[in-house]
Amino acid sequence: MRKIAIYGKGGIGKSTTTQNTVAGLAEMGKKVMVVGCDPKADSTRLLLGGLAQRSVLDTLREEGEDVELADIRSGGFCNSLCVESGGPEPGVGCAGRGIITSINMLEQLGAYDDTEGLDYVFYDVLGDVVCGGFAMPIRDGKAEEIYIVCSGEMMAMYAANNICKGILKFAQTGKVRLGGLICNSRKVDNEREMIEQFAKMLGTQMIHFVPRDNDVQRAEINRKTVIEWNKECKQADEYRTLARSIDVNQNLIIPKPLAIPQLENLLMEYGLFN
Ligand code: ADP
Ligand code: MG
Repeated sequence: MRKIAIYGKGGIGKSTTTQNTVAGLAEMGKKVMVVGCDPKADSTRLLLGGLAQRSVLDTLREEGEDVELADIRSGGFCNSLCVESGGPEPGVGCAGRGIITSINMLEQLGAYDDTEGLDYVFYDVLGDVVCGGFAMPIRDGKAEEIYIVCSGEMMAMYAANNICKGILKFAQTGKVRLGGLICNSRKVDNEREMIEQFAKMLGTQMIHFVPRDNDVQRAEINRKTVIEWNKECKQADEYRTLARSIDVNQNLIIPKPLAIPQLENLLMEYGLFN
């Protein structure tokens, strides 16, 4: 079973990219579980057709500890399995703890057992700061393979670089590795070339360049991944290509984060400030 976590700046497209890629893998016949690790609990709605998934934390709050796998895990598109960790009530407690509780609960209930036949588990993790509970999937070896969603916008690259610092820290004592950058385009000048170069400097690869396309929104309004909404469209093929690239990827490395001046030079060289 491959254990993958998707990180990246807030709003960059982690949940969208994760679910669309999982749809591609599921369409290939892979058995995939998605665990949403964001208190917003919006990591699985496209796979579930908009069905509101009760989060693990809400379920535990309402039903106590005595829960079954079926109470916290739902079946989605193409036999994918969907879980939302959820979070504490706003303003109370640490959201990262929700992730810890959820993963422990899934383990106890046997969600990762060989008998489940999973090929992949994907963690869709909130935020760019690799701290506390949000670092837990990589700190405790729950996720071993990280993909960072970024774009050619400075703050997205800054966040990606910070996440690499987190991976570097935990890679020294654990098995976590970086599998690549997913460029989710914001139509910045020279974006593809710049992110390819950024990836190279980090010691990794740009595993795919996902174009910005309004079909993503059209599918989203219909509460579907692009592949489910219109399997013929061009964007569906982009996500299929990304899914295949991840499926065959063996380029797993310990990243070399950039110093800030290096990052700034990269942005200048590729024309953002011309
Ligand atoms: P995150 O999970 O990183 O916070 P989301 O996946 O929720 O970000 O993405 C934010 C919004 O960006 C989504 O609602 C979606 O409509 C839009 N989006 C993401 N990727 C694309 C894309 N490739 N093309 C067009 N819109 C996109
Ligand atoms: Mg999200």
